[in-house]
Amino acid sequence: MIERKCSFCETVESDENPLIAGNNIYICKNCVFSAYKIMFGDENEVQTEEKKNLLEAVGELMTPKELNEFLGSYVIGQERARKLLSVAVYNHYKRIFKHSVVEDETEIAKSNVLLIGPTGSGKTLMAQSIARVLNVPIAIADATSLTEAGYVGEDVENILTKLLQAADGDVELAQRGIVFIDEIDKVSRMSENRSITRDVSGEGVQQALLKIIEGADVNIPPKGGRKHPNQDFTTINTAGILFICGGAFDGLQDILQRKEGNNILGFGHDKKSKDEIDNSFEKVEPDDLISYGLIPELIGRLPIIATLEEIDEEAMISILTEPKNSLVKQYKKLFAIDDVELTFDEDALIAIAQKAIKRKTGARGLRAILEESMIDVMYTLPEYAGYEIVITKEVIEDDELPVYVKKITKKIAS
Ligand code: ADP
Repeated sequence: MIERKCSFCETVESDENPLIAGNNIYICKNCVFSAYKIMFGDENEVQTEEKKNLLEAVGELMTPKELNEFLGSYVIGQERARKLLSVAVYNHYKRIFKHSVVEDETEIAKSNVLLIGPTGSGKTLMAQSIARVLNVPIAIADATSLTEAGYVGEDVENILTKLLQAADGDVELAQRGIVFIDEIDKVSRMSENRSITRDVSGEGVQQALLKIIEGADVNIPPKGGRKHPNQDFTTINTAGILFICGGAFDGLQDILQRKEGNNILGFGHDKKSKDEIDNSFEKVEPDDLISYGLIPELIGRLPIIATLEEIDEEAMISILTEPKNSLVKQYKKLFAIDDVELTFDEDALIAIAQKAIKRKTGARGLRAILEESMIDVMYTLPEYAGYEIVITKEVIEDDELPVYVKKITKKIAS
């Protein structure tokens, strides 16, 4: 094979220093870097400057109110949880960036968060929105896929690998990031979702999580996968990482009601109305979570407990129409590209909301319902340029076709 050389520095092509070929001319990786420096200044300087700006931006804290307002443009309802999360996030980053403002011995503890609420109520969305506003990397993991080291499944440390990847390999940035661990309830001792391939109690996973949540130096394989002795490790310190855990905690209500029942002495107390029972999540205390099967040490590391409500019909409709990139806004845009104006009857929105409630997947079900109903309409969409398409209740409930209205375009007098 002919040996190819860089036309600038004459270095022979290698795996470490590959060549880019032009018209009978080659340039190697090192010369590309040098050329970049000549044209745009020192590449490393540029990068660190950018990084510094980014870290400073995170350090310029938004107030809890500003955070909450931002959250509100993505997350409908859940006011109390939004408020709690905004304060927790504010305190967390204050602890990292501003702790030196007051010089004394006091150590501010981490304010990791536990979000309790039914599936599809916005737990993941809240964590994602917070990461977006702060411009920090986020890793989302499912506790059920995690295992104590040595069992079949993912090692807990892999969450940090994901975070490092989300930070494009920048350790400093990853150490300011957010980790969202979903389905934390499923690794409780009481959970029925345990798999026999994992530790029997779920406690091992909780113990393993404890280590990374509490703030420690953790060695991770930067490319993920199982640890083995000959691998390079990157050390991540987790003290500045905000951990948000989420779970639906099915059955927790029974524990709360039992507790409440035990507190009532004597006969003749009124049975609680359904509304009162539904709200009882709000009264959850660390002890109840211990009864549920989370280990006390883990609960101790998640001092902020925020509860989310089930999404009702009204909230479903708001979710469909109000957030910045709500589904209705997305579809309208998609149709507008084909010069079609899309509108939804109020009844149609109600029908979509009711269908989603029936499916019991929270607001997560909305997209699938819309996709199912819109498929026929979208199939012929390009033929209806210049039309208004009205989605009625019948489109959603009975698979009927929508109403097509030809729009009258005013002729400009010549
Ligand atoms: P979970 O509580 O199970 O983590 P998600 O946050 O993943 O639920 O919600 C799934 C989807 O449902 C989100 O991507 C979002 O589109 C929608 N959604 C759920 N709750 C809300 C909410 N309160 N406000 C706006 N959208 C929501």
